[in-house]
Amino acid sequence: MSEENANWTRRSDDVIIGTYARYPATMVKGKGCILTDADGKEYLDCLAGIAVCSLGHCHPVVSHAICAQANELVHVSNLYYTAPQTELAEMLIANSFADRVFLANSGAEANEAAIKLARICAGPDRYGIISLAGSFHGRTLATMAATGQLKLHEGFEPMPEGFSHAPFGNLNVLEAMITDQTCAIMCEPLQGEGGVRLLEIEYLKGIQDLCRKHDLLFILDEIQTGIGRTGTFFAYEQLGIVPDIMTVAKALGNGVPIGAMLTKKELAASFVPGTHGSTFGGNPVAAAAAVATLKIVLEKGFLDEVQQKGDYLYNGLKSLASRFPLLASGVRGMGLIQGLVLTDKGIEQGTDIVNRIFARGVLINFAGNTALRFLPPLIISREEIDRLLTTLAEVLAECAE
Ligand SMILES: *Cc1c(COP(=O)(O)O)cnc(C)c1O
Repeated sequence: MSEENANWTRRSDDVIIGTYARYPATMVKGKGCILTDADGKEYLDCLAGIAVCSLGHCHPVVSHAICAQANELVHVSNLYYTAPQTELAEMLIANSFADRVFLANSGAEANEAAIKLARICAGPDRYGIISLAGSFHGRTLATMAATGQLKLHEGFEPMPEGFSHAPFGNLNVLEAMITDQTCAIMCEPLQGEGGVRLLEIEYLKGIQDLCRKHDLLFILDEIQTGIGRTGTFFAYEQLGIVPDIMTVAKALGNGVPIGAMLTKKELAASFVPGTHGSTFGGNPVAAAAAVATLKIVLEKGFLDEVQQKGDYLYNGLKSLASRFPLLASGVRGMGLIQGLVLTDKGIEQGTDIVNRIFARGVLINFAGNTALRFLPPLIISREEIDRLLTTLAEVLAECAE
């Protein structure tokens, strides 16, 4: 690390609370799939801000939309109407099961809205939400309680009441957990933070059936999988399920903070003035960024490309897994969210592998303490995927010795 970078790193560590295990790079610029740090070192970004910058960094159309909106109107209270948020909601509705939208600023906030909506729709004494072991739904108190990773709860107890976690993959236990107090089941179509763990189609359908049978709301968290990441606009389109409430965030604004909860108007009717709200939710600049982002993702052929490049990445990873069986046991994912599942020996070296790849100028991460996770911008080229695979092969070769 040379001067500039080291200087910023030191200054930051003196003032920013240490909630992140950070890599020693201060990023100053981004273009497409390339990030540049304060020393001028370039990185191939195969994490995209954790599934956020799907159109790559500083996409000219999105940046232009942000600037244009910033010159017209940056913020106004939700006591007034604005065009960008209306346009955004229309686009989300035209391309999903939903017909009503609540706009928030983040994934956790979108999930908070979903949890509140499920509770108010269910009526008094029905407040229980069952989620799955290994899930991730956010860091606020309620979304942390919904998150099925007990180590994330440690030290923050007591958890808000009404959250329980069903063992992953077991419908019988899930059904046995349903009580008169239960109002909803909540899950991701694929557990991103949980190590790129897919839920089988039959399992998801079974969860949906349990919701119908027991009159529960089905909440689908598509915060990481939504907006084209899996090769369709939403992952559920490929999975034969339709939720009652769905949340999105991450890629929605291509880097500008924004989240949304989507639902049907019969349910949405339970939210009236005073029941829920947000000062910034649906902010004109964020909404304009999202409108510009969605227009591109929804262009004809864009999602087919994601699917094809996803297959290309999957196949490349697959051959690495067979070349390095000592470290990797398989590949799983959908579209351009892929995970290289590590063996026990690989897991021991997971952090080291990511660090070595970082040193070679490629950004990935280690998710759920089980898989190397790849979340490149959806606009990544095949040449860039090749560079990722080559770098990964070099590092795995070193670590397998
Ligand atoms: C990232 C994520 C969240 C939380 O979103 P924030 O914007 O960090 O609050 C919730 N659920 C899933 C599935 C996520 O990947």
